[in-house]
Amino acid sequence: MSTRVWINGQLFDKYEAKVSVYDHGFLYGDGVFEGIRIYAGKVFKHKEHIDRLYESAKAIALTIPLTPEQVMQAVEETVAANKKVDGYIRLIVSRGAGSLGLDPRKCEPNVIVIVDDISIYPKELYENGLEIITSSYMRNHPNVVSPRVKSMNYLNNILAKMEAIRANCLEAIMLNHKGEVAECTADNLFIVRHGVLKTPPTDAGILEGITRNLVIDLAKEANIPFTEATLTRHDVYIADEVFLTGTAAEVIAVTKIDGRTIGSGKQGPITKQLRELFTASIRG
Ligand code: PMP
Repeated sequence: MSTRVWINGQLFDKYEAKVSVYDHGFLYGDGVFEGIRIYAGKVFKHKEHIDRLYESAKAIALTIPLTPEQVMQAVEETVAANKKVDGYIRLIVSRGAGSLGLDPRKCEPNVIVIVDDISIYPKELYENGLEIITSSYMRNHPNVVSPRVKSMNYLNNILAKMEAIRANCLEAIMLNHKGEVAECTADNLFIVRHGVLKTPPTDAGILEGITRNLVIDLAKEANIPFTEATLTRHDVYIADEVFLTGTAAEVIAVTKIDGRTIGSGKQGPITKQLRELFTASIRG
């Protein structure tokens, strides 16, 4: 059975699923999106993703032409149509087709749901850890498009990702406008030092990751000391453990940064514990 894509209330074969080249999402990156996992037949953290989608849309003054309940229903319908038990959902709301030129007033938003698979890192890296670099591209300044908006404009992050790939790495740390650690190109970053788990606060210029929030909750339940903290490259280099979180990435250890071995050079014990708690939570 071929993949079915939901567009504005109708399901299409993936090769027939099309939007206009006049869509401002295509022309200008004008729109918002979510990446969501399906685990064991269930849309994981569905409500949280829908809430964030509406917050992103609000921030860019984009009116989603459906209620949150209708969007959730569209997602469920597309998952069912594709008979997906484990997979990945890309939920997109683009500004829609309008005239050429930036003015969005003639645009009619498009709501699109794609259900497919995703795997961004090879399996063995979940055991061995990732090597990453610090990118020369800074994360968006909060007064440009806030990093808290999950907008369709990822070019800055793509350039950082390409820089990582040129350095034979798969991810890159992006610093904020103050030179502090913000996050990676599609993941949040955590460190462990002297038994304390730390991650940059939301005002450090990060996307408030849903996996990040889950990992914080899991750490608190497991009585792992946790604090949101401003982190510099120095903190990251001298950490005992570093790991990344994201819907696509899940929880993955980082064992080398800018050529420096992190901790023992292997997945650390707190990362391992949180990975196990995360796995239990997605299956539970
Ligand atoms: N930061 C960025 C820039 C991202 O694109 C993502 C992926 N959505 C994340 C962090 C992780 O967020 P989440 O856990 O909600 O997927």
